[in-house]
Amino acid sequence: MRKNIVAGNWKMNNDLAQTQTLISELKEQSKTTNAEVMIAPSYVNLWSAFEATREGGEIEVIAQNMHFAESGAYTGEVSASMLKSIGIKTVILGHSERRAYFNETDESLAKKVDAALEHDLRVIFCFGEELADRKAGNEESVVGSQIKNALFHLEASAFKNIVLAYEPVWAIGTGETASPEQAQDMHKFIRQTLNDKYGSQVADDMTILYGGSVKPANAKEIFGKPDVDGGLIGGASLKAEDFYAIVNAF
Ligand code: PEP
Repeated sequence: MRKNIVAGNWKMNNDLAQTQTLISELKEQSKTTNAEVMIAPSYVNLWSAFEATREGGEIEVIAQNMHFAESGAYTGEVSASMLKSIGIKTVILGHSERRAYFNETDESLAKKVDAALEHDLRVIFCFGEELADRKAGNEESVVGSQIKNALFHLEASAFKNIVLAYEPVWAIGTGETASPEQAQDMHKFIRQTLNDKYGSQVADDMTILYGGSVKPANAKEIFGKPDVDGGLIGGASLKAEDFYAIVNAF
């Protein structure tokens, strides 16, 4: 059964005090919702965020990234077992900013996905086309190969621990949003791609999030599309009121 999820990616925003303040504001807003709610603070604040959300249990704290190696000489990196050791259960992998600024490739992401799943972490796997790809009409082939290259070596059973996040690069942090119809068309294509390789059970059960300038004003229409199961939210996740207006769009 697929789930509704709204996850806030805080990126490199919020120091310790700001993290604590935003979490208290989120807890004031949070009530019973029809979606799983997640926030991804920076590494340095993960533990305090995890502690601060322990009570109440409605907000899951997740990680923005991890390395594929178990341990070793990888200065500045964090492993799956480190995340697990502080209680983290979910990690975002393949965000377009990681791909663009930190040279992450389908191949390195395949290794990260394997490491995360070996440690029983749930993966929110991000992908999406650039503006030039869409202008050239190549969005489906780009998205299809991102998914195949990083995920199609997996057994069908692995997909119960994977959530997909379609994030057209041209819509991230730009104020441009894919229209609800563009989002639906791509999500339908993604589900069909899964269906072709793994069959209808994996495809129908897959939670597919949309990300790219989701705001309170457009969330309801985007989430109303049949193949859109929630959102990965950047800018609007930094204000408790806006984030919960999006969560409550379900
Ligand atoms: C993101 O970075 O995942 C994202 C969707 O950002 P924004 O909502 O700011 O476009």
